[in-house]
Amino acid sequence: MAEPQSAGASAGKLVIRNIGLLLSGDLGQPILDADTLAAIDGKITAIGKAEDVDAEKATTVIDAKGTALAPGLIDSHVHPVFGDWTPRQSQLNWIDSFLHGGVTSMVSAGEVHLPGRPRDVVGVKALAITAQRAFDGFRPSGVKIHAGAPVIEKGMVEEDFKELAAAGVRLLGEVGLGGVKSGEEAKLMVGWARKYGIQSTIHTGGPSIPGSGLIDKDVVLEADADVIGHINGGHTSLPLDQIRCLCEQCKRAIEIVHNGNEKAALFALHTARELGELHRVILGTDSPAGSGVQPLGILRLIALLSSLGEVPAEQAFCFATGNTARMRRLASGLIEAGRPADFVLIDKAQHSAGRDLLDSVRLGDLPGVGMVVIDGQVRIGRSRNTPPAERVAEVTKA
Ligand SMILES: [Zn+2]
Repeated sequence: MAEPQSAGASAGKLVIRNIGLLLSGDLGQPILDADTLAAIDGKITAIGKAEDVDAEKATTVIDAKGTALAPGLIDSHVHPVFGDWTPRQSQLNWIDSFLHGGVTSMVSAGEVHLPGRPRDVVGVKALAITAQRAFDGFRPSGVKIHAGAPVIEKGMVEEDFKELAAAGVRLLGEVGLGGVKSGEEAKLMVGWARKYGIQSTIHTGGPSIPGSGLIDKDVVLEADADVIGHINGGHTSLPLDQIRCLCEQCKRAIEIVHNGNEKAALFALHTARELGELHRVILGTDSPAGSGVQPLGILRLIALLSSLGEVPAEQAFCFATGNTARMRRLASGLIEAGRPADFVLIDKAQHSAGRDLLDSVRLGDLPGVGMVVIDGQVRIGRSRNTPPAERVAEVTKA
């Protein structure tokens, strides 16, 4: 998927030294044996030991001070509207607050909270194209918002999907939030979307708010969308035996959300692990929503799944980075040469009982965010939202 274009990458060379722990985002090898990273013009060029990475001619140098570096977190399930405003809870600057929670990319599951959201086919298409354009042209605080996700309605035909794709739309909003609720109808439209390169997500579970409806396992299986959206409900979960069926029978992404049922989240995680398919697990907040807006939602999910779900913390970070990148075909989310230089620098929170960062997350504590970098540009220093990190990275040359 193409990255939103605006707020372009920083020109020049960035070198980050003294990285204490390098989290790759790749479940196959979540920790890299490296302490130095270089990026040129916003793209990663080298990862290795200090003596092996060419640090000459750096225009920006960051001393990580022994803290951990991870790919910027990806929220796989948000409901933006326009700009950094949500009418759902009447909040401004919610995306900036997520940046302070380590999130550098977001994927829209539909711009459903727009007051007066159109339901007719031409209106649905116009809104999707407008949202795609608006977030491509404006990145709130530098965060990449993949938006323009139409919620399918009855009466849409193949030509509509072809037209949306030609106009730059790459996502479908949650199937089931519009008038299309049957598996048969959804399957047809999801198939058309897929034919033209548009990725789909389906709402799973009971209604989220008055006006939305139940989508059970039979509908999810028949529709066969690319992402089993909030498999743990948003908030009302399907019975656990249906969640097991979905994990076993549908080979698509298993999306766990913050604004869902925590018991069902842990059940889905355990089932994916039993199947040896943790690479399918991706994380979202499903916010803004009735449950609110959670700037630390992705970090909270990582801590929940690591502590109560008994997953090593370095693996839980992969759910919110590399897994999402691969399942959603995003450039960001992995520490690899050629990928965007989107990073979060974190450390154990002050006074956590954990021995170190990973141990603290395993105990259920949130890490402290000390710096966030997007496209090679330092966007923030110490987070205003997380508990304070013990150590904080510092820009030593700018
Ligand atoms: Zn939903």
